[in-house]
Amino acid sequence: MSVHTILKMGNPILRKLSLPYSHGEIESEETKKLISDMFETMEAVGGIGLAAPQIGINKQLTIIELPTDSDRYPDAPSSERFVIFNPKISFLTDELQGFWEGCLSVPGLRGFVERPRRIKVDYLDQNGSQQSIELEGFLATVFQHELDHLFGKIYVDHIKDTKLLIFESEAHFLNKSE
Ligand code: ZN
Repeated sequence: MSVHTILKMGNPILRKLSLPYSHGEIESEETKKLISDMFETMEAVGGIGLAAPQIGINKQLTIIELPTDSDRYPDAPSSERFVIFNPKISFLTDELQGFWEGCLSVPGLRGFVERPRRIKVDYLDQNGSQQSIELEGFLATVFQHELDHLFGKIYVDHIKDTKLLIFESEAHFLNKSE
């Protein structure tokens, strides 16, 4: 396993559309190694999601796991480990919810982003099996953030007011546990 360098905003790879995986590619040893490298890379920097383009691979793969003791998102609930290939998203409501998002490709900053509160995601898991999941709350935001990476988008694109883009070091309210 190895920890990869995470590309930062400004790198053109983060702005490209990523290509879907074939079943053969999902089952390959190379992809299995990539997934374990991605988890190792994400855990090394305390992230809760990482998309393949963030390590320079324009393919439709992202991983998500909310740990029980996240330093970066102390109030977030924990989740299972998700490995997501070729996702398709459907919005189940027009109702929006906002969270202070961060991104490993935009180090040091947080931005308040409003996104649909309930979504459905159809995708292939690490075995190439079709999955469909309905999500709400913070996890729905995390999925939308990670899926955006596969389509050349970064969370800052969704910020409606530049006053809502701030440095983590000034975001003292984020570490207040309610
Ligand atoms: Zn991100």
